[in-house]
Amino acid sequence: LKNKEILTWEGFGTASRELAQAVADSGFEPDIIIAVARGGLLPAGALSYSLGVKLSDAINVEFYTDVHETLPDPVLLAPLLDTDNISGKKLLVVDDVADSGRTLALVIDILKGYDAEVRSAVIYGKARSVVEPDYVWRQTDQWIVFPWSSEPPVTANA
Ligand code: 5GP
Repeated sequence: LKNKEILTWEGFGTASRELAQAVADSGFEPDIIIAVARGGLLPAGALSYSLGVKLSDAINVEFYTDVHETLPDPVLLAPLLDTDNISGKKLLVVDDVADSGRTLALVIDILKGYDAEVRSAVIYGKARSVVEPDYVWRQTDQWIVFPWSSEPPVTANA
């Protein structure tokens, strides 16, 4: 497990609390927290509670198919549910990591198209990312192992 950055469940708790503090200290008060599913689902949930923001939604994007293996481009798997409610709002887009940053770039682009004020928060930022998220907990260039995806999905016992 060399050359890997391992985030534990406990580390995730610390990371989300500290990321929320950075958002609060910046004076940004988001109306809605948008999770980039699936990787951003748990970070976004933790940030919604830590920031006391009750409105949350998710946008589903697929890019990585395996460790270091991606589709040609990030693709939207399903549209946002309530685009009517996004216009003019302050949105905080939350993801696990900005690696190439192309997923975040796509999502920010889509949301800005609805005239929203968009900021982004990630647990990890990588140097090569094409977007600079507004809030980053830690910088790394290693492959990150997150606690929610460190093990393969369960299979039913016969
Ligand atoms: P990006 O578009 O910034 O390259 O990354 C899109 C998604 O790929 C991330 O939100 C994350 O779910 C996944 N990903 C990218 N880099 C890593 C990594 O180092 N570790 C893990 N576990 N997932 C990653």
